[in-house]
Amino acid sequence: MKICIECGKEVAELYDGLCRECYIKSYTFTDLPGRIYLTTCPKCGRVRYKNSWREESIDNAIRKAIKGSLTVAPELEGHSISLSCRAKGKSVYICTISITSTFKGLEITEEKFTEIIIKKELCRSCSRKAGHYFEAILQIRGDRRVPTDKEMNEIIDEIKENMDNLKKQGKEIFITKIVPTRGGVDIYISDRGFTKKMVQTLHNKLGGTIKTTSKQSGMKDGRIQYRMTYLLRLPYYRKGDFVSKGEKLLYVKSIERRKVQLVDMDSWERKVIDDKMMDGLKMVGDYSILREAVVVSQSENEAQILDPYTFATVDVKKPHQIKLEKTIKIVKWRDRIYLFPYQDL
Ligand SMILES: [Zn+2]
Ligand SMILES: [Zn+2]
Repeated sequence: MKICIECGKEVAELYDGLCRECYIKSYTFTDLPGRIYLTTCPKCGRVRYKNSWREESIDNAIRKAIKGSLTVAPELEGHSISLSCRAKGKSVYICTISITSTFKGLEITEEKFTEIIIKKELCRSCSRKAGHYFEAILQIRGDRRVPTDKEMNEIIDEIKENMDNLKKQGKEIFITKIVPTRGGVDIYISDRGFTKKMVQTLHNKLGGTIKTTSKQSGMKDGRIQYRMTYLLRLPYYRKGDFVSKGEKLLYVKSIERRKVQLVDMDSWERKVIDDKMMDGLKMVGDYSILREAVVVSQSENEAQILDPYTFATVDVKKPHQIKLEKTIKIVKWRDRIYLFPYQDL
C-alpha cells in the first residue's frame, strides 16, 4: 500500500505521489487559448482553412476551430465537448466549452473560455471577381450569319450548368462578363482549362470551327501567363434547317459529334456526313418554310394535295408507301412540293 502525500489515504497506486482524487483536484487536463482567430469572406461567407476556402456555417467553423486549438492530456480516456457561444458585436464570439472525460474511472469536467475573433478577408474567387479577373474569352460567332439569341443563351446556360457542377465539387469558376458584339457574344471566363474543355464540348455538339489565339498577359511565378481566346464559329445551318445540293433538297435532321444527319426530301433516305462536307451546300431555309397542306386523295405511290400557296391540286410523289393523314407538312422549293416525313422536327 502507498500513502497519498496530500490526504494521507492508503491507495494501491499513486500519481505524482497523489491518490486519484487529489491528483484530479490539483491538475488541469485541458488547455485552450483565450483567443482564437477565424477568417471569413465578407462577400460569400466562406471560411478560410490555411490556403483553402470552404463553404461552412459560422457555428461549424467555430466548433472546428475550438476543437483544433484544444489540448487534452493524453492520460484521459477520450473526451466530449459541449459548447455555447454568444455573439459580442459583429466579429467576436464569447464561448464556454465544457470538456468531460474520465481518469482511471473518475469523471472529470473542465470548463474553458475563449474569444473567437472573426477576421474579414475576400476569398480568392471573390477577390478575382472584384478584380474582373479572367483567363480566357469564349467568342461565339456564326458562319455567314449572326447566332440567334436562343443559341447564345443556350450556350451560356450550358456553361453555367457546368460551372454549377464544378462548384458542387468545390471548384469555383465564374463568368467575369458577357459582352454582346455585332457578330455574336464574347464570354469572359475565370479559368483557361475550363474554357478550353467547354469550347471542345460545344464544338462536338454544335459543329462549326474553333480558332484559338493567345496573348501574353503577364508573369506569374517566373512563368509567362497567357490569356486565351477561343473563337467558336457556329455552322451556317442548324438542326431543322433545309439545305440544297444542286437540285437536291435536304433536311438537317440532327447534328452530333460533328456528324450531320441529312434526309433527302425526294427519297426520304437518310445519310450521315462529316460536318466538313456541309461547306459546299446552300442554305434554303429553316423549319419556318414548312407548310401544312390538305391531302385530297392518295394512292400507294402518289398523293394529291392542295398547294397551300396556289390552292391548286398537285400530284406529289410519296417516297414511302405510307398512309397519309388528312393534312401533311410540306416544303415547296423551286416550284416542287416535297412531303415532310416527320410530325415534329
Ligand atoms: Zn489524496
Ligand atoms: Zn468570397
